[in-house]
Amino acid sequence: MAHVRLKLAAWWEANARDLPWRFGRATPWGVLVSEVMSQQTQMSRVVPYWTQWMERWPDAGALAAAPKADVITAWGRLGYPRRALRLQECARVVSSECGDELPRAYDALVALPGVGDYTASAVMSFAYGERVAVIDTNIRRVLSRLFRGEESRGGAASPLERALANEVLPSDGGDSDDISDDGPDDAVMKVPSGVSHDVSRGVPQGVSRHVPRATPPSVMWNQSVMELGALVCTAKNPLCEQCPVSDDCAFLAAGRPGLGERRTRPRQRFQGTDRQVRGIVLKALRELPAESVGSRDPGSLPRERVESLWRDHVQLDACIAGLDDDGLIEILPDGALRLPRG
Ligand code: SF4
Repeated sequence: MAHVRLKLAAWWEANARDLPWRFGRATPWGVLVSEVMSQQTQMSRVVPYWTQWMERWPDAGALAAAPKADVITAWGRLGYPRRALRLQECARVVSSECGDELPRAYDALVALPGVGDYTASAVMSFAYGERVAVIDTNIRRVLSRLFRGEESRGGAASPLERALANEVLPSDGGDSDDISDDGPDDAVMKVPSGVSHDVSRGVPQGVSRHVPRATPPSVMWNQSVMELGALVCTAKNPLCEQCPVSDDCAFLAAGRPGLGERRTRPRQRFQGTDRQVRGIVLKALRELPAESVGSRDPGSLPRERVESLWRDHVQLDACIAGLDDDGLIEILPDGALRLPRG
């Protein structure tokens, strides 16, 4: 196992993407925001949204006080916009009940609105440096191939997959509290080659300059396995010839049996779906003239313009009702729509 960890750690240091919330450059709150935004959205697409979001709302308190219409508008084309409202609900709880500090305990994190097992584990590991097995689709796929020689199954992580993730998670040896609270002057960050060590460069307001003295082995493991799954050991076309652990891989040794057969979820058609219609309605509301999307008084879209958005009015009205139920829009008595107040 030790040599697999070493190979992966070396690969991480040479290949990890320079995402702005990595390498100790974001507060725990910033890490949480990145994880929520990255669910169901590619990380490379998230970067500009995250950067603007953190400049505008650098902490939970700032997001908690933001008008809902602004939050939904800033979510832009990240998709699944209910996540934006859940994130704001989370910010309100953190701001009002946790002194504006994200809790540093798994149980407290997972109790927050919109925070599930994966997000809580990711914050504990990536933001706080605690030894926690992070289990997402990429990690499940890599571990299953590497150690069990088979594709991971779809659906929720099985007890077997959880057991494997915990079994192979390295020990951090002694005190795992490796996150420095001493400030930037004496902090030493272990970052991949090619990534700037100047953590003060371009750091938005509210982004931490406190960085780990050295990345704990468990954190290195979580992030390198996850990154390998995103960049090399992909679902359909794993690049085994470029893989740092190909010599150790049970799946490759077995001839890659059933490659891609048990993907977590088949790709969903988008065209014509309710998701597309909901996106069209929200886009029209987000794009109302800036002066009418005043922070406390969002403008409205008249009914006739609403009807012009989608030909099938039965589907359109069902989607509008769904958006209303989700708290993402408001329906006015004359049928006009607007982003929510408050
Ligand atoms: S050798 Fe291929 S299947 Fe095995 S971990 Fe590497 S990329 Fe994945």
